[in-house]
Amino acid sequence: MRKVLLGIDIGGTSIKAGLFTEELVLLKRFCTAVCREDQPRVPINKLLKWIKEKETDDEVALLSAAAGIPGILDQEKGMLSLAANLPLWVGFPIRDYFKERLGVAVSIGNDGNMAALGEYHCGSGKDMVTMVMLTLGTGVGGAIIDHGRLLEYNNFSGEIGHMIIDMHGAECHCGRRGCLETMAAKSGMMRLLGEELKTSPHNKEEYANLSKVSPLRLSQLAASGDPIAMEVYRKSGEAVGIGIGNVMNILRLDGAVIGGGIAGAWEGFFKAIEEALAKTAFDYNPERIRIKKASLGEHAGLYGAAVAAKQLMD
Ligand SMILES: [Zn+2]
Repeated sequence: MRKVLLGIDIGGTSIKAGLFTEELVLLKRFCTAVCREDQPRVPINKLLKWIKEKETDDEVALLSAAAGIPGILDQEKGMLSLAANLPLWVGFPIRDYFKERLGVAVSIGNDGNMAALGEYHCGSGKDMVTMVMLTLGTGVGGAIIDHGRLLEYNNFSGEIGHMIIDMHGAECHCGRRGCLETMAAKSGMMRLLGEELKTSPHNKEEYANLSKVSPLRLSQLAASGDPIAMEVYRKSGEAVGIGIGNVMNILRLDGAVIGGGIAGAWEGFFKAIEEALAKTAFDYNPERIRIKKASLGEHAGLYGAAVAAKQLMD
């Protein structure tokens, strides 16, 4: 019987799961679609069926499991208390449902935190003792890891996306002004682009149909030397650099890992981050504060969940 850990990554459109060795080597992977209209037990039961099959056919024995979930969690009840992408999951006892059916210890965590745990233990954060992770996507996710564990006080941690970078800046969906998200999340970048187009003297042909311009397209334009795209990425990178600098001035961590769709973009983005960081962080030294691109891509959450499962065994 091979002993395995189960990592689960629940997203707005799919559930991914993986069976890992105790050394965090991924052995088997599973994926099933999640429909907004389906009750949570529909996709979860498919996953449970897969695990039962693995237990009999492949002779594996489950040690523990953990799941990353997008939204605000109520850890006491082991369920989601707020989830924009999974409304039917709010109030469903996710942790206990798994626990009762798997017969092992189960923990749940926010998906951004899980991705950070994954990068720390298995990805770009491997050589850091303390780090902050930023995930730039629809929003800006943040998490701080100290000696392998998430820094969390009173069930709350790392809301770096809502760190105020410019108190007179654009309104954020959270109701405040000038949060990092208003400059570094997808919608924030599109807002910066809109502003840039109003004043830029450069050729705007590429932007005639704005609905077709995504952050990815923008990064391709920046890489090809388009001055408007370069300026949008520069401003966004500057905001990220100030945000990281603020974190470093408080905590002096070993470095920052930046993930998410936007981070895979143009190299100039990272240059802008480092320039702003150099101006913001006290006593800045690039050897001391390292900035790295995330390396696990969309698998970070899965690895992180396996790490959280392993931590249940400690
Ligand atoms: Zn905000």
